[in-house]
Formats: sequence, C-alpha cells, structure tokens
Amino acid sequence: MLLSRFPRIFLAHLPTPLERLDRLSALLGGPDIWIKRDDCTGLSTGGNKTRKLEFLMAEAQDAAADLVITQGATQSNHARQTAAFAARIGMDCHILLEDRTGSNNANYNANGNVLLDRLHGASVEKHPGGTDMAAAMESAAEAFRAKGRKVYIIPGGGSNPTGALGYVNCAFELVGQLNDRALVADHIVTATGSAGTQAGLITGLKAIHAGIPLLGFGVRAPKDRQEASVFALACGTAEKLGCPGMVDRHDVVADCAYVGGGYGIPSEATLEAVRLFARTEGILLDPVYSGKAAAGLIDYCRTGRFRAGERIVFLHTGGSAALFGYDSVLG
Ligand SMILES: *Cc1c(COP(=O)(O)O)cnc(C)c1O
Repeated sequence: MLLSRFPRIFLAHLPTPLERLDRLSALLGGPDIWIKRDDCTGLSTGGNKTRKLEFLMAEAQDAAADLVITQGATQSNHARQTAAFAARIGMDCHILLEDRTGSNNANYNANGNVLLDRLHGASVEKHPGGTDMAAAMESAAEAFRAKGRKVYIIPGGGSNPTGALGYVNCAFELVGQLNDRALVADHIVTATGSAGTQAGLITGLKAIHAGIPLLGFGVRAPKDRQEASVFALACGTAEKLGCPGMVDRHDVVADCAYVGGGYGIPSEATLEAVRLFARTEGILLDPVYSGKAAAGLIDYCRTGRFRAGERIVFLHTGGSAALFGYDSVLG
C-alpha cells in the first residue's frame, strides 16, 4: 500500500505530536491516556481536514481547477481549512454553509470559523437547515462554470476515498510513533462525523495489521447509520488503494450515545469535557466534535469500560476556532 502513488500537496505540519496526558490520566484514575495532536496540523488553527485536503487539493490542482467549492455547517472546520489551503496555493474558494442548529447567536453566525472563512478570502453563501447541500454545490458550480471558471467540488468534510487517504497516512504515522517509543496502544478513539477520518484510520490500521481497535464517537447520526457510512467509505478507500476487502464490517465501531441534543448542540457532558481538558491539560477541544468524543472517553474511563493498565490514544481532531461561536454556553 503506497500512498506516494497519489498526488499530494505537502502542507500539514507532520508528524503531529503524540503526548501523554499525565494530569488527566491521574485525575480519572484509570487508563493511561495519550493524545495524538491533529489539532496541530498547522493550517489556520489546525484540525483533521488538513490531512485530507493534502490529497484533495492536489487532485484539484491536477484537474487545473482555479476554484474549489465545498460545504459544511455554519461553524465548519472543514470549510475554514479548505479556505486557508486554497489561499496558500493561490486558488479561489467558495463555501456553502448550512444552518444546522437554527442558532441566532451573533457569534455563532459570524465569529469563529465563519470569521476565518472570510479572512482567508473565501466567498460564503448561507443555506437553511435541511437543504440538499450536494445539489446546492452543483448549482453553484454550474453558475461559476458558466462564467468560465474551472471548478473542483470537495464533498462535505472532505470525506471521499481521496480525502480518506490522509487518515490512512495518519494510521501509519501513529503506529510508527508507537513503535519508535515501544508503546502498546489498547484502543484508539476519535470523533466521527462525515466518516473520512474513521474510514481512513481503520483502512490504514488494517493494512498494516496493527491489531488496535478503533472506536468512533458519533456527533450526529445514530450508530447504525454512522457505522454504515464509515464502512462504505473504508471499502471505497481500500479499493482505491488496490486492496479491496481489507476492512470487515465488524472493524467499524461507533458509539453515538454522546451526541446529546443533536449536531452542533453541546450537552452538559460536552461542556464538562471541554472545561476539563482546558483546565487540567491546557488543551482546547471544541463543542461540536472533539468535546463530544472526549465526553465519551471520560465516561468510558469513569465507568470502567476503559480499565486501569490500558493505554488509550485519543485522536484530537481540532476545532478550537468554533469555541468563539459558543461563548454563550462556555463563557
Ligand atoms: C470534521 C471534524 C471531525 C469529524 O471528522 P470526519 O472525518 O468528518 O468524520 C472531528 N473533529 C473535528 C474538529 C472536525 O472538524
């Protein structure tokens, strides 16, 4: 499995650090908790989309595109990283934002990631919740093409087999770090949304027979739907890599019990996790993704599902820019 067969623009700060969370591990009194710092990928406050965009933007460049279009929720970290990546390589960027939460908070709608989208020079159009965003991107693309632009469309979250290659690479990188330091990981946990992160990771972990179970904490869809979309994307990713059939359905495990009130709506447990990481480790989580995954991690430690003596790696997928859209619940 050779990732160098695929076009890539090297831009992320890699490898991201792998660090032990001494104080959090002591506080929870159970397993040994480590963190893989994909919040530190180096592009406009960092995050997991940067790894995917290394492959997606290379494809856009190979297709001679001069404009990329993508979509996400109002506080989309993916949109912000796409806008920054486009700026870095001199491409234009058009973003469609879907109002999934119905919030009329001024900071939610204009601060945080939205402010950064505009700062990076992207044009932004807003759509009500429930819009068919894939269709909306198609019609936006048509309008640009009619004006002579060469458009490349990136799906929401950058989650297709091309984007997932970034997380196949992350699996290789993480296992390399564990090997270099003679560390055995018993579990890897991460937030899972548009599925590319979990799908790429499981494909990479299976490809090298790492034997480490991966658990995704859902942020939106129920368990059956989340697992089905991760599995479908993992199959597509393995196929793209010339290794079909490498991932089994039972390798894909999501726990969607920490979604709370819905996508982008933090629960009390989410807010507690954000505060706990900030106060015990000086690490910024976010209220939409990593805060919900951390709430799951904390609960698994407290209830003994992750036991003393086990080593857990928490993949921090970023998202801190969204904090500035959530001052009303965090302030
Ligand atoms: C997009 C995102 C995720 C989820 O990753 P997917 O590949 O969409 O499943 C997790 N955390 C943060 C901060 C994100 O922006």
